Amino acid sequence: SKENGKNKYTMCSSFLQKQIEVNANLTNSLHLAIQRKEFILNYQPQVNAQTGEIVGVEALIRWNHPQKGLISPGVFIPLAEKNGLINHIGQWVLQEACEQNNKWQKMGLKPIKMAVNLSLGQFLNPNLVEIVENILKKTQLDPAYLELEITESIATYDVEYITSTLNRLKDLGVTISIDDFGTEYSSLSRLRIMPVDKIKIDMRFTQGIYRGTKDESIIKVMLQLGKTFGLKVLAEGVENEYQLRFLKENQCDEIQGFYFYKPMPAEELELILRGNKNI
Ligand code: C2E
Ligand code: CA
Ligand code: CA
Ligand code: CA
Repeated sequence: SKENGKNKYTMCSSFLQKQIEVNANLTNSLHLAIQRKEFILNYQPQVNAQTGEIVGVEALIRWNHPQKGLISPGVFIPLAEKNGLINHIGQWVLQEACEQNNKWQKMGLKPIKMAVNLSLGQFLNPNLVEIVENILKKTQLDPAYLELEITESIATYDVEYITSTLNRLKDLGVTISIDDFGTEYSSLSRLRIMPVDKIKIDMRFTQGIYRGTKDESIIKVMLQLGKTFGLKVLAEGVENEYQLRFLKENQCDEIQGFYFYKPMPAEELELILRGNKNI
């Protein structure tokens, strides 16, 4: 009946209203989260596929909300991207990650790369290069140990601007990787001219590895692509022995995934790096 339809509509709009309120509340507390020191970074090791040795880590942000507990970046990063806070948060991440990596090196641990995610909004910030340069100076991290992860979505923007920004970043001495490779806008002609060092195969391909699936064929093509362009290839989301064996047999360079390590706090990684050192 009409009456029912109206109720449905009211219910639906009040549900939407709730969602909007929840997001508005989160956005408000997001503003304060940095000064209240509610963000933390976890670090997920990236290993040499053949030896299993840790060669780098990816910094992954978590929000320790005073009422809601740990909130995953999948929830609040998209909000921060929408309201522009991503630049502020992204700078905090960059600074914290560089500082931490320098601290580990000063402790005498084997130097490893620190990979940091850059959102599209950060990449398009005209001050990006200066920001990275200043943070490297301030934290005294050797730029060779910083890697910036960008996504393919940048490939849809002005090619001159992208390549010149990437070149200026590379002039600082940092390396660049393409995250979630193969999931968005992939253009081979752009890949050819983009000065990047590494591609990261998205986990939805890795997790499809099983006895001759299409995903296996796609991964082989990506590995071949890496060879052709002189790029390192890392596979994300490796969770089992079978996936690892396939990637090793096909000469994948690096692996990141729960099979080896989950993201962890700095202190936990420190213990592992110390253990590695004593072997
Ligand atoms: P991403 O950059 O693709 O990061 C990898 C995600 O995959 C992480 O989720 C990680 O915990 C998860 N992962 C790694 N190995 C495995 C595995 O073997 N199996 C499964 N099922 N998952 C695995 P997380 O930490 O929840 O981050 C989600 C996304 O949030 C990231 O995806 C990235 O897009 C974004 N993000 C995280 N930290 C930052 C940051 O500091 N800045 C920006 N801009 N984005 C961030
Ligand atoms: Ca990433
Ligand atoms: Ca990824
Ligand atoms: Ca992603």
